[in-house]
Amino acid sequence: MILKSYTVGSLAVQAYIVACPETKEAFIVDPAGREEFLAKELERLGLSLKYIVNTHGHPDHTAGNKRMKSLTGAPVLMHSLDDDLFRRPDIASMFLAWGFEPAPPADRHIEEGERIEVGTISFEVLHTPGHSPGSVCLYGHGHVITGDTLFVGAVGRTDLPGGSLDTLLDSLHSKVLTLPDDTIVLPGHDYGATPTSTIKRERESNPFVR
Ligand SMILES: [Zn+2]
Ligand SMILES: [Zn+2]
Repeated sequence: MILKSYTVGSLAVQAYIVACPETKEAFIVDPAGREEFLAKELERLGLSLKYIVNTHGHPDHTAGNKRMKSLTGAPVLMHSLDDDLFRRPDIASMFLAWGFEPAPPADRHIEEGERIEVGTISFEVLHTPGHSPGSVCLYGHGHVITGDTLFVGAVGRTDLPGGSLDTLLDSLHSKVLTLPDDTIVLPGHDYGATPTSTIKRERESNPFVR
């Protein structure tokens, strides 16, 4: 598997390129900044982008959707609950005040259990509400892309619209921390001591989930 990570945007989101080494098909997660650079990276790596996937609908993760889509032609995938909630006028205007233009609607909704496939690479969508109602984690090939659901040594905030700490902890304990010990955690922001972690390490040392 080809896996690359990039820090992008004003709130330092971790974007990920995931690709099949054989077919050179790729998906990109949360390309919310440096879109021209990311498009050039895809070109440099010889990859063809099949999907733009959002871990959730917060504007620091969706801010690049429009530009990335126009540069690559790839469709935007997001969970329906966040696509609906964060385009609601009252919420969109709150984020506009923070300097984020509203993102266009997703082209396709992704749901629990669905798979995102590029060539021989297949990631399962885990619906993990709590940080936002439509947050998802993407699990495959010994890796889990966790967005703002799980950080290295922390969890996402739950004080934004639709957030709930109880729901977040339930998602983590039922779907994420139950993954195999050596699963590599790829978070939506590099807030921890290291950029990545493992499920075992988070289960044992993350103070928010113990
Ligand atoms: Zn978020
Ligand atoms: Zn974020």
